[in-house]
Amino acid sequence: ARAAYVARNPRSAEIHAEAAAVMPGGNTRSVLFYDPFPLAIARGEGAFIWDADGHRYLDLLGEFTAGLYGHSNPAVRAAIDSALDGGINLGGHNLLEPKLARLVCDRFPAMDSVRFTNSGTEANLMAIALAKAATGRGTILVFHGAYHGGVLSFGGGGSPVNVPHHFIVAPYNDTEGTLALIARHGPDLAAVVVEPMLGAGGCIPARPDFLHALRDATADAGALLIFDEVMTSRTSAGGRQALLGLTPDLTTLGKYIGGGMSFGAFGGRAALMAMFDPRRPDALPHAGTFNNNVLTMAAGIAGLTEVFTPEIAERHRERGEAVRGQLNALCRQQGVAMQFTGLGSLMNAHFTAAPIEDPAGAACDNRLRDLFFFDMAEAGFYLARRGLAALMLPLTDAELDGFRNAVARFIEA
Ligand code: PMP
Repeated sequence: ARAAYVARNPRSAEIHAEAAAVMPGGNTRSVLFYDPFPLAIARGEGAFIWDADGHRYLDLLGEFTAGLYGHSNPAVRAAIDSALDGGINLGGHNLLEPKLARLVCDRFPAMDSVRFTNSGTEANLMAIALAKAATGRGTILVFHGAYHGGVLSFGGGGSPVNVPHHFIVAPYNDTEGTLALIARHGPDLAAVVVEPMLGAGGCIPARPDFLHALRDATADAGALLIFDEVMTSRTSAGGRQALLGLTPDLTTLGKYIGGGMSFGAFGGRAALMAMFDPRRPDALPHAGTFNNNVLTMAAGIAGLTEVFTPEIAERHRERGEAVRGQLNALCRQQGVAMQFTGLGSLMNAHFTAAPIEDPAGAACDNRLRDLFFFDMAEAGFYLARRGLAALMLPLTDAELDGFRNAVARFIEA
């Protein structure tokens, strides 16, 4: 598969060599690199992308979930065009930011108020800073395999570029183990930060009882519960918290909510968020030249009001569940150690048959994962190297059937 990949993609190889002369490894976003060289994507339209050698792919990755609307969604595109007519950067409060803030707060009842950032990473950094300031405590509990941003990454042994907070790393979906850690660190604990589904960690959903236990234990310990819904926000109009009837103290968002432009947001109870009110003498600072940039604000508003309405959100979740169910039925019928974990329109291929509750349970022979990636690429289906698929709205049933058939052929081969 690898030799065929190299032979098929000479232009991507050249472009990567040019890039490597000016960027380490030809890369400026680590997740996008893979051996022997990554595909150079030249353009996208609707549910498809084309690489530099002219191959067309069904885009199942959907920009790691930020691409929910598809490439150049007409409504989002029109909103960006019209915002452009009024200038890109206005250096002041603008007319669009309160509209997007209102839309976000209406969708997420746990968010009385919100602040915007340029990325999900920044949103989590600010939420953690707020939790520390609000509680006067310094310890942050996170989970093995969690990803909250490039400097808040807890896969493997953590990351050498992580921010130097005092982190305690707990076992995901292990209520007893986590409650023991919360009990031990309680008086120092500022916050528990949790993805309602491990996203980068392999689309491994948290068990509802685990999340409910975190809600109770943080409240008892006087610590804040922060839901990182940067990925899971699309699992319903109001994220996974709406599906579970859970109210975190703070919520962080990103990805599609900015219409596909650079985006992040954090918010929660009014009394907590009020610590950022610049009219207060002791206000926490939160800066960022592009926090309220009009292109993101316009794209976000158009996406939430014209495209991803609550009805569409529900339909898209059901559609994702159905597609994943069919893929899993196929794996079972064929009797192979393969499955697709996830929630709604988010899924990840894994090469083991046993139920997966944490990153250790997803361990497999990575050569199988790679074989799947290269095989799918050759068949015209683009996923993340690690097996992530994030279904975009413009995908048709026929296109998704085509993917299932390709998976069937892969299994047979
Ligand atoms: N949290 C989660 C759950 C994520 O999946 C991501 C990005 N994949 C982030 C935070 C960071 O967002 P960004 O890449 O916009 O900084």
